[in-house]
Amino acid sequence: MIRKIPSFIKIYESLIKIPTISSQDKKLDQSNKILIDLLSNYFSELKFTVKIQNIPNTKKFNMLASFGNGKGGLLLSGHTDTVDFDANLWTKDPFKLTEKNNKLYGLGAVDMKGFFAFILDVLSTKSIKKIKKPIYVLATANEETDMSGARYFIKSTNIKPDCIVIGEPTSLQLVKAHKGHISYSIDVIGKTGHSSSPSNGINSIEIMYLIIKKLLKLKVYLRKKYFHKEFSISYPTMNFSSINGGNAINRICALCNLKFEIRPIPGLTLTQIEILVQEVLQKIFKKWPNRIFLKNLFFSVPPYEFPKESKIIKKIENSCQLTPITANYCTEAPFLEKIAPTLILGPGSIEQAHHADEYLDCSFIKPTKNIIKTLIKKFCY
Ligand SMILES: [Zn+2]
Repeated sequence: MIRKIPSFIKIYESLIKIPTISSQDKKLDQSNKILIDLLSNYFSELKFTVKIQNIPNTKKFNMLASFGNGKGGLLLSGHTDTVDFDANLWTKDPFKLTEKNNKLYGLGAVDMKGFFAFILDVLSTKSIKKIKKPIYVLATANEETDMSGARYFIKSTNIKPDCIVIGEPTSLQLVKAHKGHISYSIDVIGKTGHSSSPSNGINSIEIMYLIIKKLLKLKVYLRKKYFHKEFSISYPTMNFSSINGGNAINRICALCNLKFEIRPIPGLTLTQIEILVQEVLQKIFKKWPNRIFLKNLFFSVPPYEFPKESKIIKKIENSCQLTPITANYCTEAPFLEKIAPTLILGPGSIEQAHHADEYLDCSFIKPTKNIIKTLIKKFCY
């Protein structure tokens, strides 16, 4: 078979070379269009049908490449964006794939542009002409910020694969469930005045104290009420992340801000959390109208769990010799699972993701290619 696309390493290099940073900071946020175009060219060379979609009102794009017809099949998915990097901490060029000590360094080497190099390499070495069910490859945008790529894709597609595998760096462990994430900011606006006359002001720290007391009650309630035996931390967690307020010792504190997050286990929905938070704080809200402002920070991600009744997981466990586990980080799985049962399985360790000198350990190369081949064999033939 004549290879139509560059070698594994050359593809890897070409993907790392294109900056695709996603950031809440508009100055740092970049379009992923050049990378999407490059991936489209590679998949077109392999005779895939390629569709590119623009996420409305953004400079971001998704790509869906398809090969074969019919129902079911396999969808391999990855995100095209990376987080920002700290140039002072990196000892290597983040945009140049550097091979050293049996490691491949570069921004996105494990999280997770490299996954596309694996898929492309397998597809270029394996003849897939005779597949009976389609192979899809999805490349999403904005996973590192609001997951708008995956959110938009599920609304706009009608494909129904039998299984989706997201190639996030799980050290080639099969992740079948993860926690969600929801974060809040609360502002308490009191009334300032001289500390010697407390009745002239409203101290926002005192109100925040009452709020924290209620939230701590909720924290205990969540821990007692919800349990998932397969998670190392088997209950929903709550963390107070920061508190700020006050400026002078002799002034009544007018403004106090608290930020906190909750990580729900599967079985506790984001809506339930929203209701619980409102419920515990309701009395304080009523007592202090227009003085307490609660809002969501960032974008929430629901918890996710592979459907217990599905037989697909056994199929992957047996054919790839893997044992399913749970994870504490978030992925696009809770969105993609809306169209098909979704698992997370990919090369490299999450320990290296979002870190300076991010790298893929080369020991993952061979087993990853084998797993991708096996998945195609099991789901498309
Ligand atoms: Zn990732």
